[in-house]
Amino acid sequence: MQLDTTEEHNTALLTKLDEHLLCLLASEGIREAQDILLSEEQLPLQAQDKDGRKALHIVVEKELHNILPLLLDRNPIPGLNDQDYHNRTPLEIALTMGNAPMTELLCGYGADHVKSLNQVQNTTQTSENSLATEAFFIGIVKKQNKPEDNGAGGGCLICLDEMEYKKACIHKSCSAAFHQKCISDYRPHSTNCPSCQEYTKCDDYVTLDTIKKLLKPALLTRRSLLSKILG
Ligand SMILES: [Zn+2]
Ligand SMILES: [Zn+2]
Repeated sequence: MQLDTTEEHNTALLTKLDEHLLCLLASEGIREAQDILLSEEQLPLQAQDKDGRKALHIVVEKELHNILPLLLDRNPIPGLNDQDYHNRTPLEIALTMGNAPMTELLCGYGADHVKSLNQVQNTTQTSENSLATEAFFIGIVKKQNKPEDNGAGGGCLICLDEMEYKKACIHKSCSAAFHQKCISDYRPHSTNCPSCQEYTKCDDYVTLDTIKKLLKPALLTRRSLLSKILG
């Protein structure tokens, strides 16, 4: 039997492959697979596997760092805030895996943080997860700095100016970010969060410094464990 090796045939074949395989091929640097991922063709990027995972979930779970930007380049980004059958979004997978660069990248591209910072801190146990929590914080600030598609919003929710994450603080339960100075000017007038209107104590706003302090015990435990093992 003569194998059909025309370009048309190859493209048809690649398009038929499930997105999982396509991602793996692209991660191996197969040029054709990368081209298809980048092209405007209708790919089954919204298709789900038996665990309800879409291409983006798989790419994050397999930590395919060179493929993630290809998917994030698409508009709209396929499956950015979708949950698999275990109720995990791609961001939640990145957080669980303690993958800080992927966490930061996904937040920067507008991935919704379904879990509040409270819950993220409670689940923080390893130094990798601590890094992911830090990245999560930075990602929220970066995401909020980006103006919405309609040109409105962006920046600190009080003064609307852009924030530097080192000088930002975040309300733990709603994850809205503000300048530290704007919140301290605002608090004498109201104890409710300017974003969600919930009654909020000073402690309920966290800064990157607070996060680092909170995460320190986890880092120390790990270090002492390591030194025990290494003798
Ligand atoms: Zn401000
Ligand atoms: Zn709030």
